[in-house]
Amino acid sequence: MKQTMAQTLALDQTSPTTVGGEFDFAYRLDTALWVFDIDHARILNANAAACELWAAKDEEELRAREFASTMSTSVSNRLRQYQTDFSNSDQKFTELWTLYPNGVPNSVMVIFKRFVLPDQRMAMLCEAVGNSVEQADNVRSAEALLHTDVLISLFNRSGPSLYLNPAARNAFLGNTVDLSDLFENQQDCQRILRQVDQTGEMRLVTKLRTAHGVRWFDLTVKNCLDAATGDPALLLTCIDVSELKEARDTARHLADRDQLTNLYNRSFLQSHLAWLEERHAAEGCAIVFFDVDRFKQINDRYGHEAGDAVLRNIAIRARAVLNPEDMIARLGGDEFVVVIEGKDSTADIEDRIDRIRRAIAKPMVYDQTRFDVTVSVGVARYGDDTDSFSDVLRQADIALYVSKQGGRNKVTVFDVEMGDAVAARDRLEIELKEAVAQNQFVLYFQPRLNIESREIVGVEGLVRWNHPTRGIVMPNDFIPVCEETGLIDDLGRIVLEQGCKQAIEWHKAGRRLNVSLNVSPRQFSDPQFLDTLRAIASQDGFPSGQIELEITENVLIGDDQLIAEKLKAITAMGYGVAIDDFGTGYSNLAYISRFPLTCIKIDRSFIQQLPETGPLVQLILTLGEQIGACVVSEGVETVEQLNWLNDRACAEAQGYLITRPMPASELSEFIKEFPESEVAQALAG
Ligand code: C2E
Ligand code: MG
Ligand code: MG
Repeated sequence: MKQTMAQTLALDQTSPTTVGGEFDFAYRLDTALWVFDIDHARILNANAAACELWAAKDEEELRAREFASTMSTSVSNRLRQYQTDFSNSDQKFTELWTLYPNGVPNSVMVIFKRFVLPDQRMAMLCEAVGNSVEQADNVRSAEALLHTDVLISLFNRSGPSLYLNPAARNAFLGNTVDLSDLFENQQDCQRILRQVDQTGEMRLVTKLRTAHGVRWFDLTVKNCLDAATGDPALLLTCIDVSELKEARDTARHLADRDQLTNLYNRSFLQSHLAWLEERHAAEGCAIVFFDVDRFKQINDRYGHEAGDAVLRNIAIRARAVLNPEDMIARLGGDEFVVVIEGKDSTADIEDRIDRIRRAIAKPMVYDQTRFDVTVSVGVARYGDDTDSFSDVLRQADIALYVSKQGGRNKVTVFDVEMGDAVAARDRLEIELKEAVAQNQFVLYFQPRLNIESREIVGVEGLVRWNHPTRGIVMPNDFIPVCEETGLIDDLGRIVLEQGCKQAIEWHKAGRRLNVSLNVSPRQFSDPQFLDTLRAIASQDGFPSGQIELEITENVLIGDDQLIAEKLKAITAMGYGVAIDDFGTGYSNLAYISRFPLTCIKIDRSFIQQLPETGPLVQLILTLGEQIGACVVSEGVETVEQLNWLNDRACAEAQGYLITRPMPASELSEFIKEFPESEVAQALAG
């Protein structure tokens, strides 16, 4: 027995661990000394002290022991590492190891040194050393455990805690806790246990319940054995990362959100759509685009703060009526997008859109001003002729565009023919530019009848586009595009010039006819507008007081003072100002008296619903009388309507009953023959 030990040691002449010729030397040492074969996880030699340490009867019994089956992977990996380190250089390692002689734990400080076996394999000479090192290091490690802010704890595999360092004790409230009680999210706890079973270790950022409330921790859990009992245990290291996580979450929130509305922003939308595509969850998803009708007017008239308030309100209302899983983002400006995932039916999607529109349509009040907001909507679904979200977005955009073109406050679901419609619209825009450049426009005139005197006293100039191939095109088919593109400024000037030229001609010919001309809101706010009017008014023969500009009610909303000054300047030049389509706009009658208005034109929808709308029409008649404005009823189509108006002393009537709009050349004839017409006769009778 002694021989073996001495022989083994003596054989390695080159090793610095060689004890030398005295065979009994190692065996007689009180220090436990053994040679460990790393490859086979067996002890090859051991002195008496080592046998005692390992609780073995003798060296032979110890040599027969097999360590592989009880050795954890981390220990065997560590030993392999030592083997490599010893091969590379002459090193020694001093460590506190817990040995398990016959399953009973025993912590000892061990020095490991290189040891080359006769067959040239690298083994390890192990020496259990005295207490001085052990004590110092034990004290240090105990101190470190006491003072660290890291929560270190040991749990029995079945749940209860075995050891908590002071930081963990303070945080976890108490000397013993159960593992699962720590977790805010029990699924995380189960996940950790499963993973640790499989790989021995897991790291996770999760929420733990602490004395300071629920906080975020960077948690590492390792499989180990309880040094006191040798039972399977879990070592937990927890670092509080709440502040870090909050800072990161805030940063992410800022990057993903639209600052004004707190909805998601464009960049988040894009990553969300990419994520849906990656997960193969894009099929059937609906993209709902919506955009606030006439948002620019709100901004221009009431200022950006009002505009912002409206957008915030829309965001809150839309979010509130959507399902939690629906995603809504603001793309910028007044454009919003909702992503509804594919499992929902068309009816579900329609319902969602309906809810959004109804929520937004409820009046909004900002700074004592009431806003009635509507939105135009475009919808497209993934999979209908598309295989990428960028296609679906484009389709939804086209559908939205079609809603706008169709008069706003509408929902349009994309279909392929719309692509053609958009191309047609682009063509129209090009043609219109050409038409403006070449002045392909003519004015038709619709007479205004003085009901009492039964005379034609005025005409409204209504523009027509004399299209080179299509013939006469009506204003509703091109005015909106002109408004949108800004072509209206040029077209408006053409109409004013042409209308006034005609008025001057009639005036010179001795015909007294009031001529009214339509002015679009955009044209009214054009900075050049007053100059154009001034130039026209300075022409020779300009019939001052006989040309009226028709504006709609919404032109009068905004900065009162500015508008009043503009209107004053216009009337000072000799133009009259009529309110067109009266009753369809912002229905605030108070403004009427603030502006110098010469005429009110009652919208034809009220006239056509007479006598039901009688009280309202009567009210407008009274209002006109009070402010000294002439009242014209538009859209008079029947003798009954005309008689009703006649009975209430409405000044003028305009409508198909009298005649449709006609070219200037036909007007003289019409006026001459009118007294003989059935309408004139009916009035006379
Ligand atoms: P508006 O200014 O309210 O003009 C009256 C419209 O009602 C005209 O349509 C006229 O033909 C139509 N109308 C007249 N009597 C009756 C009737 O008894 N029944 C019905 N159902 N309709 C009647 P039009 O000429 O198609 O013009 C439509 C609109 O286009 C005009 O409405 C006006 O807003 C705009 N518009 C026309 N010319 C111009 C223009 O030179 N500049 C601008 N900015 N807009 C114009
Ligand atoms: Mg008009
Ligand atoms: Mg009108």
